[in-house]
Amino acid sequence: MLVSPKEILGPAFARGQLIGAFNTGNLEMTMGILRAAEEMNRPVLLQIAEKRLGHAPLHLMGPLMVSAARQAKTPVAVQLDHGETPDVICAACDFGFTGIMFDGSGLPLEENIARTRALRGSLGASVWLEGEVGMLAGSEGGPEATALHTDPAQAERYALQAGCDCLAVSIGNAHGHYKGKPQLNFAVLTAIRKRLPQKPLVLHGGSGLPREDLLRAAGMGVCKVNIATAGFDACRRGAAQTPRDGDYFVMNEHMVRAVRESVLRQLERFTL
Ligand SMILES: [Zn+2]
Repeated sequence: MLVSPKEILGPAFARGQLIGAFNTGNLEMTMGILRAAEEMNRPVLLQIAEKRLGHAPLHLMGPLMVSAARQAKTPVAVQLDHGETPDVICAACDFGFTGIMFDGSGLPLEENIARTRALRGSLGASVWLEGEVGMLAGSEGGPEATALHTDPAQAERYALQAGCDCLAVSIGNAHGHYKGKPQLNFAVLTAIRKRLPQKPLVLHGGSGLPREDLLRAAGMGVCKVNIATAGFDACRRGAAQTPRDGDYFVMNEHMVRAVRESVLRQLERFTL
């Protein structure tokens, strides 16, 4: 069933649990993600990043994602990931997305606050709004960014003034594949948590984060973990493993199955 991220993340935050937010880019990934969520009877977020819309247009993917969520046997929130353009954000809401992540992390703090605040006003309280302070290393379909850890004081100012419902932080997590073992800075996370004890926190770049780090972060205010790279890799692997004599329909099944297995593994990692 289609729900607001609030219905999923609110209880998870209160209990110190992790929720998977899985990015999709096509029909097969969407089916694989929801199949795994249903099998494990777990609520999830289904997301698409604005930068992926060149490959998977919103007017096609949006209705598909919302319809898939409505039909799902488990609670599913549908969110625009790394939304930047007002028209795209508006369109996502019109299609029935229940959450928006606004990425103003590349802007000066004051501008990030002002734009998030304006968006909060135009979206109304019914749409869940995720903001971000600090920059992650790696790319989300755009140019490679240099990591900039979230400044706890800036995070506090942003969260209090911008009116976001949850906050994505940069503490050594990265988009894409990690170069070497990830080193999360738990001192920064502790400082953010101290200043914002009531604000649900989000880790992007969850695909390659070690399980022990995820579980430790769960006890420190993180309740949403974004998984994109692992799903895209699984989908590509599934397609590549299609037998040479297999037709498209065989490839479709391989892709769905590979994404399902990847999501099952991720969801298992989130549980104690
Ligand atoms: Zn991200």
